[in-house]
Amino acid sequence: MMQNKITLHGVDVKFPPVCLVCRAPAQKKFNIDRTFSYGKASMTVTIPIPLCEQHHTLAVTPSSTEKMVGRIGLILGVLSGAGAAYTLWNMWSKNPNNSQITLILMSGFFGISALIIMWSIFSFWLAPMFGSKEAKAVRNVMKISRFWPAKYDLQLEFTDPETAQLVASANSENLLKIE
Ligand SMILES: [Zn+2]
Repeated sequence: MMQNKITLHGVDVKFPPVCLVCRAPAQKKFNIDRTFSYGKASMTVTIPIPLCEQHHTLAVTPSSTEKMVGRIGLILGVLSGAGAAYTLWNMWSKNPNNSQITLILMSGFFGISALIIMWSIFSFWLAPMFGSKEAKAVRNVMKISRFWPAKYDLQLEFTDPETAQLVASANSENLLKIE
C-alpha cells in the first residue's frame, strides 16, 4: 500500500530543512496553494515548501510555451480591455447625464478589470499546464488534496511515500492520519 497521503490538523505545516524533491539542504521556499470553494465562500490555503536552489529554480522558471501563453494572455487582455472600455464609453456617452470624468473612470475601470481577468486566466490557470515536465514534477511534489474548514484539517498528497513519511514525522503532534 502506497502511504502518500497525510492528514494534519492546522495549516501551519512544519518541514524538515531539506529539499522535498532531493533531500539536499533547503535554501528556498516555494508556495503550494489551492483555493477551496464552499458555496459562496472560498478559502485559499498556502503552504511554503522547502526546496534546494536547483529545484526552486526549476519550479519558478517558466517553459518557453508557458512564456508564450502568458504573452498571448497579455495581448488578449489589452485587446479585450480596450474593447470593453470602448464599447462602454460608446454606450454611456449617449446618456447626457454622464460627465466626461465619470465616463473616463467607469470605462477605464471596466477596461482594466477585463485586462486583469484575461491576463490572470492565461498566466495563473492556462500557462502552468504548459510547464516543462521537470518543472511540473517539482511543483507537484506536494498537493493540497483536501481541506476541512470547520476543523481546520488538511490532507496533503505527495508523489513519493518517503516524502509523506518525512513530513508526517515533522508534524507528529498534529498528525491525524497517514494513508
Ligand atoms: Zn532539490
